[in-house]
Amino acid sequence: MEPAKIYLKPGKDKSLRNRNPWLFSGAVDRVEEFEENGQPAEIMTAHGGFLGMGYVNPESQIVCRVLSWEKQEIDRAFLEERIRASIGRRAMVLGDSTDSCRVVNSEGDFLPGLIVDQYGAGIVLQILTAGMEFFRDDILGILRDELHPAFIVERSDTASRREEGLEERTGVIGGTVDGPVEIVENGRRFRVDVLRGQKTGFYLDQRESRRIVGSLAGGKRVLNLFSYTGGFSVYAAAAGASEVISVDSSGPALDLARENMALNGFDGVSARYVRSDVFDFLNAESGPWDLIVLDPPAFAARKAQVDQAARGYKDLNMRCLRKLAPGGILATYSCSHHVDRTLFRQIAYSAAVDAERDTQVIVQTAHPLDHPFDLCHKEGEYLKGIILRVR
Ligand code: SAH
Repeated sequence: MEPAKIYLKPGKDKSLRNRNPWLFSGAVDRVEEFEENGQPAEIMTAHGGFLGMGYVNPESQIVCRVLSWEKQEIDRAFLEERIRASIGRRAMVLGDSTDSCRVVNSEGDFLPGLIVDQYGAGIVLQILTAGMEFFRDDILGILRDELHPAFIVERSDTASRREEGLEERTGVIGGTVDGPVEIVENGRRFRVDVLRGQKTGFYLDQRESRRIVGSLAGGKRVLNLFSYTGGFSVYAAAAGASEVISVDSSGPALDLARENMALNGFDGVSARYVRSDVFDFLNAESGPWDLIVLDPPAFAARKAQVDQAARGYKDLNMRCLRKLAPGGILATYSCSHHVDRTLFRQIAYSAAVDAERDTQVIVQTAHPLDHPFDLCHKEGEYLKGIILRVR
């Protein structure tokens, strides 16, 4: 299909010239030769000067996402090259002790709207935009050719799809999956519910942090708040924690947390699985603990919620700091991209001041190697962590 032609309003080309791949509707004057949502598109200044190639969706606030700053055809061959390159970059993550990672990270791999996670021998994909939906068959073909997956599951059930005018689509589209699949991460085993679990089933983005927390957990009483399926709990138990408490509001997540601990042979570890709202749990139990992991869901889904989210994060962090024994460690995270790194530091600082604890930053964590983001697309950065020790 011939590319549609997108003409910008005069003076509205700054963001694209700064190589941000998102073109918002406010900058667009008109779209010509448009046939179908998601079709390839060429972007031009008001005067017809070439700016980039992408795909178009006039129904979305983000009318176009740029795929290339050069004039070239956007077709299966183009996607094949990008996907193959992305897969090639994962060699640094995958190996004998880790068989799962994010293979394609949307804008971060210059493939806006496409997420592909590898879980052992199979893959889970998320198609977030009309442009990637337009190329869905090609993408599936490429992934089959390149990865030969034992199964393919689609989890295109994100809120962003609605904003693109797309229906949800989930299910097994290749091979068989009839329950949780088993993966290995840094030598630890996990069962992952790729069909019904959160996101694509597992928080692959916390792999590095789990490893670091594991290295600090020996002999400690560990409280894992917002535990999901027990990622941090398993690493802590493996490191020889004396006690591990996993707290989450999701029953199915805690069931898997329990299974994951058993799978790694930690039946004997003193472990508790508490199905509760974390705020209620903290009201009811005073500790003290030696290591608290605080990995809440995103509190700010939009920019307008940032102030409220910051107050929520601060309150939680302050309460956790108060419940640490002397020398205790807090591993605290935020995955709201609207709460940036500077604000998150500020939140941790305010929490420490109000908790009246001296704190020592041991390490700050970020996206792992398989979750790159495009430096010109700050919207792609979301995960921040601070691991600190109190006196
Ligand atoms: N640390 C986890 C990922 C945490 S995701 C890992 O490494 O895998 C956030 C979790 O918070 C989800 O499992 C969700 O069920 C849980 N959750 C969200 N709100 C909650 C609340 N108010 N109280 C307890 N758990 C909550």
